[in-house]
Amino acid sequence: MVSTRLARYPFLEEAREEVEAHASKFVDVVSEPVLERAEERVVLALREGSVGDITRDRRVELFSYPVARAVVSVVDEYPVTRRYAWAESVTARDRLKDDLNEEEKMRRSNKERSPVGASGDARLFFDDIVEEFGMTVEERDEAYAMEVGDFLELASGMSDEKWKLVNRSVEDGWVRVKREDVLELSREAVRERVADGLPLTVPDDARDAIQPAVENVREVVAEADITTEIDRVEESEFPPCMETLLAEVRDGKHLEHHSRFAITSFLTNIGMDTDEIIETYEVNPGFGEEMTRYQTDHIRGDTGPTEYTCPSCATMVTYGDCRNKDDLCEIISHPLGYYRKRLDELDDEEEDAEEEGDEGKEDGGDEESPD
Ligand code: SF4
Repeated sequence: MVSTRLARYPFLEEAREEVEAHASKFVDVVSEPVLERAEERVVLALREGSVGDITRDRRVELFSYPVARAVVSVVDEYPVTRRYAWAESVTARDRLKDDLNEEEKMRRSNKERSPVGASGDARLFFDDIVEEFGMTVEERDEAYAMEVGDFLELASGMSDEKWKLVNRSVEDGWVRVKREDVLELSREAVRERVADGLPLTVPDDARDAIQPAVENVREVVAEADITTEIDRVEESEFPPCMETLLAEVRDGKHLEHHSRFAITSFLTNIGMDTDEIIETYEVNPGFGEEMTRYQTDHIRGDTGPTEYTCPSCATMVTYGDCRNKDDLCEIISHPLGYYRKRLDELDDEEEDAEEEGDEGKEDGGDEESPD
C-alpha cells in the first residue's frame, strides 16, 4: 500500500524507489486514472501555478508524478518544464509549511509523533526535509545555522536580496537562517529535483501511452501562448529596433529601464542564457554584471513563476523603442514575430542554396563519370 506521505511528496527518494518496486517498465505505471491525474498536474501547473490537491487513490497520486514528468518531457518546451517544476515546488512548499506548523504545535504540547510508515505519519518534519536534501543545518540560539556551501547552492537560484551572502550573518562557514528560510530553500531544492534530468528520454511504448495527455497539454500551451521559445541566435536577422538597442549597449550608451528590458527580454526569449547576455553587455560599463544577471534571471522566470516576453511593437512605439522600421515591420506586430519570419526566410534561402549545390554536383558528376 502506498503511504499518504509518498502521495503528498512524490519527489522523495523513497517515492522513486516505491514506483520502481511496483513496475519493472515505466509504461506499466500508465493507467487511465494515472494519466488523467498526470495531465491535470501539468495543466494546473500551467494555468494556476500549482499541481492541485492529492487524489483519494494514493497509488494514482504517486504514479502521476513520474508520468507528468514524462508528459512534460515529450512536450519538450522549456517554459512548460520550468512552470511545471515551479508548480510542484510551490505545492510542496505549502504542504511542508502545514507540516512544520503541526510539528511546532506538537513540540509545544510535548506530543510524540506517530511512526512513519505505510499507514503512519504522512507529514514531513524539519529533520526529514533537511536530511532528504542533504542540508547541514544546526539549531543555534533559537534560530538555525546552515553550512555556507549548502546555502549558496540553493540560494544562488533566488533573486531576492535577502539570499545574497553579503546580506547574511556568516561565521566560520555557517550562515544564519530562520526556519522559514529553510522552508524556502527546500522549495528551491524540490524545484531543482523536479527539473533535474528533464526532458527525459521516454521509451517508445510509454510515449504512445501518454500521447493523449501530451496532445492536450500542447493545446493548453497553444491556447495560452505559453511558449515563445525560439532558441536560436542569428544576430543578422534581428529586428531593427533590437539591432539599434544592442548597438547602443555596445557603444556604452545609457539605456532607460524600458529599453534595457526590451533588449534583455528579447535576447532571453530567443534562447540566450544569462552568461551570454552578460558577455554581450560587458562592453558597456553602465551594465553592471550583477544587475544584468538579476534582470535576466527574473525575465527568464528562473526566480519566479512568470517568464516575461519582450514588448510588442505597439508597446515599443509607446516608449520610443521602435526604431528604424523597415518593410517587414509593416506586416508584423511583435519583434519576436519579425525575428521568426526572418529565420524562416533564412532557412528557405539555405535550403535553396543546398538544393542548387546538389544539382550542381549531380551535373558535375555526370560530366566526370567514366561512363
Ligand atoms: S515595428 Fe516592431 S519589430 Fe519593427 S522596429 Fe518597430 S518594434 Fe521593432
